[in-house]
Amino acid sequence: RPREELDAVDSVCPYCGVGCALTYYVDRSRGAIAFAEGRDQPGSKGRLCVKGRYGWDYAASPQRLTVPLIRVDSSYPKGPLSADVRGDADNDRGRAGAGGNRSGGGRSAKLSKNGKDGRRKPGGLVDYDEVLPHFREATWEEALDLVARRLKGIHAEQGPGAIAGFGSAKCSNEEAYLFQKLIRAGFGTNNVDHCTRLCHASSVAALFEGVGSGAVSTTYGDVANADVVIITGSNPTANHPVASSFFKQARRRGTKIIYVDPRASTVSEHADYHCQVKPGTDVAFYNAIMHEVIRLGLIDMEFIRARVSNFEELVRTVGDYPPERSAQITGVDADLIRQVARVWGEAKAGVIYWGMGISQHTTGTDNARCLIAMCSITGNVGRPGTGLHPLRGQNNVQGASDAGLIPMFYPDYQGVDRDATRRRFEEAWGTELDPDRGLTVTEIIGSVLKPGGVRGMYMLGENPFLSDPNINKVRKALSQLDFLVVQDIFLTETAEFADVILPASSYLEKEGSYTNTDRRVQLGRKVMDPPGQARVDWEIIQDIARRIGLDWSYASPSEVFDEMVGLMPSYANLRHDNLGLTGKLYPNADPEHSDGTVVLFDERFNTDDGLAHLVPAQWLPAKELPDAEYPLVLNTGRLLEHWHTGSMTRRSYALDTIAPIAEVYMHPKDAADRGLAHGQRARVRSRRGTIELQVRVSHREQLGNCFIPFHFREAAANLLTIDEIDPYGKIPEFKFCAVQVEAS
Ligand code: SF4
Repeated sequence: RPREELDAVDSVCPYCGVGCALTYYVDRSRGAIAFAEGRDQPGSKGRLCVKGRYGWDYAASPQRLTVPLIRVDSSYPKGPLSADVRGDADNDRGRAGAGGNRSGGGRSAKLSKNGKDGRRKPGGLVDYDEVLPHFREATWEEALDLVARRLKGIHAEQGPGAIAGFGSAKCSNEEAYLFQKLIRAGFGTNNVDHCTRLCHASSVAALFEGVGSGAVSTTYGDVANADVVIITGSNPTANHPVASSFFKQARRRGTKIIYVDPRASTVSEHADYHCQVKPGTDVAFYNAIMHEVIRLGLIDMEFIRARVSNFEELVRTVGDYPPERSAQITGVDADLIRQVARVWGEAKAGVIYWGMGISQHTTGTDNARCLIAMCSITGNVGRPGTGLHPLRGQNNVQGASDAGLIPMFYPDYQGVDRDATRRRFEEAWGTELDPDRGLTVTEIIGSVLKPGGVRGMYMLGENPFLSDPNINKVRKALSQLDFLVVQDIFLTETAEFADVILPASSYLEKEGSYTNTDRRVQLGRKVMDPPGQARVDWEIIQDIARRIGLDWSYASPSEVFDEMVGLMPSYANLRHDNLGLTGKLYPNADPEHSDGTVVLFDERFNTDDGLAHLVPAQWLPAKELPDAEYPLVLNTGRLLEHWHTGSMTRRSYALDTIAPIAEVYMHPKDAADRGLAHGQRARVRSRRGTIELQVRVSHREQLGNCFIPFHFREAAANLLTIDEIDPYGKIPEFKFCAVQVEAS
């Protein structure tokens, strides 16, 4: 149909933290989106990557959950796991599904099955035909009554600490706010977290300690004002594609790019310097850079005297890292370290962007501490073209964290263990609150396995049975819960194990606000109705809240937003009706007339004394080093075409057609040494499991390292990963474990 006959709905892309503005053109005669187009907004300028442009048809998949489901098997282990995700055949401990009641019972739910979209059976997804017989359809009344009764029962019998909730960075700000409020005010516990724990929790821990704020200090568009940029632990072309276009454009205008990453990428091809560090050696690398910057006198003493604390201790620590020593640890030539240190030290305006190659280590907080020190000692904070920017992963991981979906903070990072703060929230929410920090995602998994630990869980849009490290352990733990309710749009790997499944709405089916990596708060608008009996998420949360005795009566997301903003000084002045078509940055003194504040910390940091607190770090090796049995280092991450556990993008026809199969990326010599050719099937095993997938020979990998994306259930990378965590951010070491690859 001609464009003028289509309905145009302005919204936001649901995938990465760039949060591109877009318009969906809807053909109402077919009840379907015809196409999507980028829309002008300061952070995306009308651009979209392949996910934003084509990755929305999953919402119309016949596999959508359309009716509440209740498990009919009465005992654990619950439901079968497909053979392809059971992991190591020798590892019986992980077989949460093996030996369960495979025949199930009750009537089969009348849901869409695999392959009914008239095209082809989606590869590697949950087998609906196998799982659905274990469930029966229910009314909303019945399902919600059961959820409330079981969670309340566990709470009454075993105490608040027996309840936990996983929200999601896919939630809107309003959903995230209500979810954490439900767990805190309804169940009296701070056991509420989300996938920020797997993403940038260590960056946030370091930023809070160092500069008193977990958000970015400047935008990615501000790269245009920098003369030097460090991009580290990130492949932005795959993970933040439109932000990557800003970096490449800045390079064309003369900004120097220093790229620090174990892997090569299209960004390294644009970079002036590529420091191809060995995985897990970032502290040794940045300590050497600072050693050189200090030795050459390229520090900003005026800035340090006025605005930095603990500089002397930093000098003592980095004194142990001359370039020659660092070269031995990192594999980067000492002369290149010296060269890069000079370029950074001489920059008039330098900014650092980092990704999960920095954060997803047991030393993730130390890695980020080094980056904070790098900027602080050279005065590269608080001016245009300077600053610190952890590139946030999911489109609303910033907003969900801001809204309090983390166990140690109420909304706006106000500590649950601060008496005055807690009293303020108790007054606002009209109930007594838990004075202790709650458990994180990674700690909740461990707690389920302990006596007196978590027994009942509410999962909203998370899929830990595929996304968390060492998923055999996750499956073993969470399959032992007394009660699990999952609210999602598809039958995910986690929903397979639920007692109750609540059919939720995709972002296309509701209104809500989302906060991108730049601190830009934007409105997502409703494009279509949810399918069948599926409902919008904030209403489901409210219905559960009412059933457990909370007196909630929100009439709309904007009403929730107004309450939330009233408790969040950083979001002051923002309202749904002043966000406009392009959203607003926070903080923002006058949203009616201003886009908001780009550069933070121009006069003081957010710490109590206003200073940047440097925390020097010593380099520590990764927790599981290669050895004779497992000689390769495994790195995991994302592809451009897919998103996280693939529940949406693998049901998107265009995206799954471009990238349909799981591959292990290997250096040509590592492949040749094992007799493996490009395209051949191989087995990858670690101490925790084995997967089988295809070999991709790639010059972008370092010798001795390999890379596997974690989107593919049929070759689940997280069967291999290790569940060791960073002691501060509690983030797992997704970027380093020992594996072997061999012909299958
Ligand atoms: Fe969506 Fe990120 Fe791509 Fe923009 S860059 S279209 S937000 S996935």
